Amino acid sequence: MGKRKGGSKSLASFTEKSRYSNGYLAADATVYGADNAEVDVAEERAESSNLVDPPEVEALVGSDKTSADYYFDSYSHFGIHEEMLKDVVRTKTYQNVIYQNAFIFKNKVVLDVGAGTGILSLFCAKAGAKHVYAVECSLMADMAKEIVQANGFSDVITVLKGKIEEIDLPVTHVDVIISEWMGYFLLFENMLNTVLYARDKWLINDGIVLPDKTSLYLTAIEDAEYKEDKIEFWNNVYSFDMSCIKKQAMMEPLVDTVDQNQIVTNCLLLKTMDISRMVSGDVSFTVPFKLVAERNDFIHALVAYFDVAFTKCHKLMGFSTGPRSKYTHWKQTVLYLEDVLTICEGEALVGSMSVEPNKKNPRDVDIILKYSLNGRRCQVSRTQCYKMR
Ligand code: SAH
Repeated sequence: MGKRKGGSKSLASFTEKSRYSNGYLAADATVYGADNAEVDVAEERAESSNLVDPPEVEALVGSDKTSADYYFDSYSHFGIHEEMLKDVVRTKTYQNVIYQNAFIFKNKVVLDVGAGTGILSLFCAKAGAKHVYAVECSLMADMAKEIVQANGFSDVITVLKGKIEEIDLPVTHVDVIISEWMGYFLLFENMLNTVLYARDKWLINDGIVLPDKTSLYLTAIEDAEYKEDKIEFWNNVYSFDMSCIKKQAMMEPLVDTVDQNQIVTNCLLLKTMDISRMVSGDVSFTVPFKLVAERNDFIHALVAYFDVAFTKCHKLMGFSTGPRSKYTHWKQTVLYLEDVLTICEGEALVGSMSVEPNKKNPRDVDIILKYSLNGRRCQVSRTQCYKMR
């Protein structure tokens, strides 16, 4: 799923720059399987990106659209799909999962939840699916229909334009559900509930959901320079005090790449979700954490990221969006702390993180962080609220 920060709201965000360039869309991007053997996927990228011809798409989709339309539905614009397709860690993992595990798809009825350009449906059709229903609510559904036709899969793939929650599927049951629903901080945009809805409505009893496991992680980083640039900046703007904006800036988790050298503590598994069993209420949770310093340093922020796993394959497959892994368009999510913590090796930052969809707009995520450090150099106890929107 796309979702640059604010991606559903502003096209300006498409040009957002990372502070640490990993060589955007790392030409040498790799994916891992159970053996963690890295697979070179550089040459495959060109293959994927050929599926969409941006200027043509713009001409067809964009002709009668204004920026006001895109403001509410960035998925109608090809830019966000281009970004996702060019994320080779993401797209190549799905392709490997599907092509290398054809037994899951052969002669099966597949539902692609949020099909976008139809890329996952095309993979499934190529792997031998009996029929694929590609459901997409944005205008990109029209493009997906053309793409399916242009590639000769019209008899296998049916593109349905509409919301999963509102469409009539021509069949009562499907054998497999595939989806790329993950948002920033895993849960931003809350598309997971759409997948769970589809699972409960159409998936046969022993059916398969892909991916079926996802895990959220937390770590702490030193980030003096960037915190200064993003937060303290507002204290003195051309000699004017704009510090009232600082509060808002602090409350918004920042989606950006973190260098692994910034990591000060262990990386902690916060929460694992089993997509084949969980219920929608499970997207709200409170979990405790204990982050132990691996060196003497300052802590300016906590950082969250996630892994995705396909456990029903011959061998475990998946990818990580963590700072120690190859770049993905999800980057990491940085939560700045009010205080600069001074932590000594072996000391622990303890607390809890609560996550829940915003009550007014369930696509947004509210995060409450409680933390305390009782160290030699620093004693702090605080609660901070963040809003991903
Ligand atoms: N499967 C594509 C696109 C993933 S992005 C790929 O892997 O490249 C997720 C897509 O889901 C977006 O195109 C978005 O418009 C669509 N979507 C989100 N919520 C939906 C819903 N409730 N019903 C149908 N489509 C949805």
